[in-house]
Amino acid sequence: MCRLCDEGRPQDHGSQLGRRDFLKASTLAAAAAAGGGILAARPAAAHDGDAPPADSGRPGRRYVIRGGYVMTMDPSMPDHGEFSKADVLVEGKKILAVQPNIRAGGAGEIDATGRVVMPGFVDTHHHQFETALRSFLANGVLINDGSGSPSGTGTYFEYILLTFAPVYRPQDVYINEVFGGLSQLDAGVTTVHDVSQIHHSPQHSDAAIQALFDTGRRAAFGYFESAGANILGTNPGNQYPQDAPRIKKQWFSSSDQLVHMIMGGEVYLGDATTEQSWKIGRQLNLQIAAHILSPFGIRPIMDALAMGQGGSNHDIGIGPDNLFIHMTGMSDAAWQKVKDVGAQVSIAFPIEMNMRHGMPPLIRMQQMGMEPSLSVDVECTLTADFFTQMRSCMNLQRLVVNQMTLDSPNGNQNLPDPRNWELPQSAVTVPGSFPYWPTPPADIPAPLTTRDALRYATINGAKALRLDGKTGTLTPGKEADIILLDATALNVAPLNHVPNAVVSLMDRTNVETVIVAGKVRKWQGNLVGVDLNRLRRQLEDSRDYIFRAANVPQNLFRDF
Ligand SMILES: [Zn+2]
Repeated sequence: MCRLCDEGRPQDHGSQLGRRDFLKASTLAAAAAAGGGILAARPAAAHDGDAPPADSGRPGRRYVIRGGYVMTMDPSMPDHGEFSKADVLVEGKKILAVQPNIRAGGAGEIDATGRVVMPGFVDTHHHQFETALRSFLANGVLINDGSGSPSGTGTYFEYILLTFAPVYRPQDVYINEVFGGLSQLDAGVTTVHDVSQIHHSPQHSDAAIQALFDTGRRAAFGYFESAGANILGTNPGNQYPQDAPRIKKQWFSSSDQLVHMIMGGEVYLGDATTEQSWKIGRQLNLQIAAHILSPFGIRPIMDALAMGQGGSNHDIGIGPDNLFIHMTGMSDAAWQKVKDVGAQVSIAFPIEMNMRHGMPPLIRMQQMGMEPSLSVDVECTLTADFFTQMRSCMNLQRLVVNQMTLDSPNGNQNLPDPRNWELPQSAVTVPGSFPYWPTPPADIPAPLTTRDALRYATINGAKALRLDGKTGTLTPGKEADIILLDATALNVAPLNHVPNAVVSLMDRTNVETVIVAGKVRKWQGNLVGVDLNRLRRQLEDSRDYIFRAANVPQNLFRDF
C-alpha cells in the first residue's frame, strides 16, 4: 500500500532501487531533487466520470477499454486481430482479452467510442540526453564538409559531441532524459531504447537509469561511451565499458521491471574497445548495439566482424544478440551475415535522409526478406514522434520504388542517381503510347503500405529489443502498452480505414490516452500527475548551463 497513491497522488513504483538508495550518492542528490517525484506533482483525479480507472496497473485491478476500433497488430488472432468494434480487458499490468462485448462485472471502463485502440509505438534508438539541444542542429549534417554552407558548418560531430556533450553533469542527464521521455510518452511511444552515450562517470550512468525508471515507460537503457569527452580526454571519471557488471547487478537483476539493459558496442571507437565492450556484453548476456554507417569508415570493420575477425584479437563476430543502427553503405557479405544470424536492424529514416548517413537501406532489406524497426535518433535535428517516422519511411520507400518502376522499361539505366531522379529524361526514351505507365518488374518490392509502416513501428521494434514477449501487439497475456487515438478529430474524420488514417493523417494531437503496463499515464489529452511547467523550467536551466559551459552563445535566430 502507498499512502500517496491512495490519496490520488500516484507514485512510480517501477524502480527497483528505492529513492533513498539513490539519494545516497551525493553527487546525484541535485539530480534527484531536480526531477524527483515527477509523478507526485498534483492529484490525478478529474471530475467523477472523467477520471481514469482507479489504481490502473496495480495487481488485480480490472478495467475494460470499451467499443474502440481495435488494431492489435497480431494477425494470428481472430479476424487477423482487426476489429471495427471490440473491447480490451486489462487486469493489473496485463491484457486478459480482446474481443467484442466483453462482460467484466464491476470492472472500470474507458469509453473508446470513436478511438483507435492499438499498441504503443516502439523506438529502437533515441539519444534522449540531447533534449535540451532540440532543433539546434536542424540544418546540420554529421561532420564538417569544408563547404562553408550552413549544413556543412554546424555539424553533429563538432557541436553536439565535441562541444555540448562533454559539459553535461549528472543532473543535466537526468532532466534531459525525463523530459524527452515524457514527451514521447505523450506522443504514444511507450517503449524506447535510450542510447544515452553520456557516461562520463558512474554518476552520469545512474542518473540516466534513474530517469528512465522515473519516467515510467518501458525502456532499454543503452550503456554507451562517454561521447565527446572520450575524444577530448576531459572525463577522468569515465568507467565505460568496465562499469557494465556493476550497473547490471545494481539496476537490472530482475527481468520483471519496465527497464532493462543493452550494451553499447561502438566499433568506431577502435578495435580494442570493440574487443572489450562486446566481450563484457556477451558475458553479461546483454544485447550489443552499435551505430553502423559507411561515413564513419565502418564498412571494412563490419566486413571483419562478418567474418568473425573483429576486435583487437580478431575473434569478435556478429551474432543474434546484435542490434545494428542505420546500416547504411554496408557490403553484400555483411548484410548476408546479419540476415543469417538474425541480428536486428534499426533505421532512422528522417535523420539518415537529413544528416548524410547514406540511403536508408530498406529496399535492400526487403529484397533480402528482412524488415527493420524504426528509430528517431536525435531531436537536436528532428522530432521524435512516430507519425513522422512512419510517414518518412513510407515516403522514402515509395519514392524509390515508384521511380524504379517508371524507369524499368529503360532497364533502370538512369537509376540510381540521387542527384537527378526526375522523370522526363527516362520517359522520353520509352517506346509505346500514352499513358506511360509500366507494370512493376518482379524484382522491385511493392510500394510500402500503412500496415507495413505500423508493423515496423510496433512489433518489429519490440522484437528488436527482445521485448516481443511483453509488448508490440495487443495479444492477451502481454503487458498492456496501449494507446487510444482520436479518430473523430478535425484532421481525421470521417474515418474510412483504420491503418491508413493512423499513418497518413494522424499526429501527436490525436494521442488521447496512453497506457503503460496497465497504468494510465495520459488521460484525455494530458499526462497524468506530471508538473510540466516545473520540469520545463528545470530543462531550461539545464540548457542555459550547457550552452554557458560549452561557450556557445544562445541566439534564437543564429545560423552557422
Ligand atoms: Zn544514433
